[in-house]
Amino acid sequence: AFVFNEINFDNHEQVVFASEEKSGLKAIIAVHNTHLGPAMGGCRMWNYASEAEAVRDVLRLSRGMTYKNAVAGLPIGGGKSVIIGNPKTDKTPALFEALGEALERLGGRYVTAEDVGTSPADMANVASKTKYVAGLGDRGDPSPFTALGCFVGAQAAIRHQLKRDSFDGLTVALQGLGHVGYDYARRLHAAGAKLVVADIDQAALQRAQDELGAEVVGIDAIYDVQADIYAPCALGATLNPDTLSRLKAKIVAGAANNQLATADIGEACRQKGILYAPDFVINAGGIIKVCYEYLNTPEDGMEAHVRRIGDTLAEVFTRADAEGLPTSVVADRIAEAKFKN
Ligand code: NAD
Repeated sequence: AFVFNEINFDNHEQVVFASEEKSGLKAIIAVHNTHLGPAMGGCRMWNYASEAEAVRDVLRLSRGMTYKNAVAGLPIGGGKSVIIGNPKTDKTPALFEALGEALERLGGRYVTAEDVGTSPADMANVASKTKYVAGLGDRGDPSPFTALGCFVGAQAAIRHQLKRDSFDGLTVALQGLGHVGYDYARRLHAAGAKLVVADIDQAALQRAQDELGAEVVGIDAIYDVQADIYAPCALGATLNPDTLSRLKAKIVAGAANNQLATADIGEACRQKGILYAPDFVINAGGIIKVCYEYLNTPEDGMEAHVRRIGDTLAEVFTRADAEGLPTSVVADRIAEAKFKN
């Protein structure tokens, strides 16, 4: 009886288990909430240790998409799908075609996109069977928009926490110089910030040193840097009791998903005087871009929409202070006020 009792089941509208013999597809499609529009969220392919683990993951991720899409002011709901399998060895075009057929049967209640373990090429195979797929990559990578959202989010954070408008003289400890992290670093550097960076990719580190004058530290040392802002742009769950006891920064503003190792870390940040920009608010630039593309919304308003992430965060920070609540809880409430009724 674990499905309905799962903490993340949380009133999911519909969860579909889809399989197909010839391709070997085993997928779970979770539609959490479609109050604001069709559920949108990526398709993850992962070698889950058990089916229960796959169910838990898809439920958690789809619920998260409802909150992210709602707080971003998008006319879409939240959903997610997972394919059980090894993305390195088990991929075939037929697998993704079979997923496309499953989406077609859902009639547009869920729209997929690429995610961990899936690529634009996989999504093209999905698209051969259904139009309910977004972000095919033909109009560009959403990461620069995620980076822009992080940058305006960091601006809102320094205004609130440090009562200043400029990054001049501020130090940012940035973890992960990937698609989002490097572009975010570039913007911070252009705005006058000093960068201290960590990555496992030596080429990315070298480029940040050469182009952005960044100082490089080891992947564990990033938590001890004397910085004003900690910007997690690599892994999830980097905010935990150990790292909180080490961070010198009074602001956390980065792109990574699921930054809080456990929900109570939001309150721990508040008590330590660390202003945490909730991950699903600050990293919504990419989904805003993908959603505009999918819905054929004229793109002239898109950048302004991404920039409103800064205004939303300013509201989150002000309300959190006024109500004595963690920013993570306030952000959840703002989302819930939009999608629940
Ligand atoms: P990416 O894979 O391009 O970049 C991740 C970077 O982190 C890589 O350079 C990698 O070498 C580095 N890295 C890996 N392990 C590390 C470690 N232990 N310490 C330091 N660096 C390490 O991914 P991305 O698209 O830039 O996304 C970064 C994060 O932001 C992810 O958590 C992702 O889920 C999240 N996110 C991305 C988008 C987007 O638009 N791409 C949108 C929302 C959220």
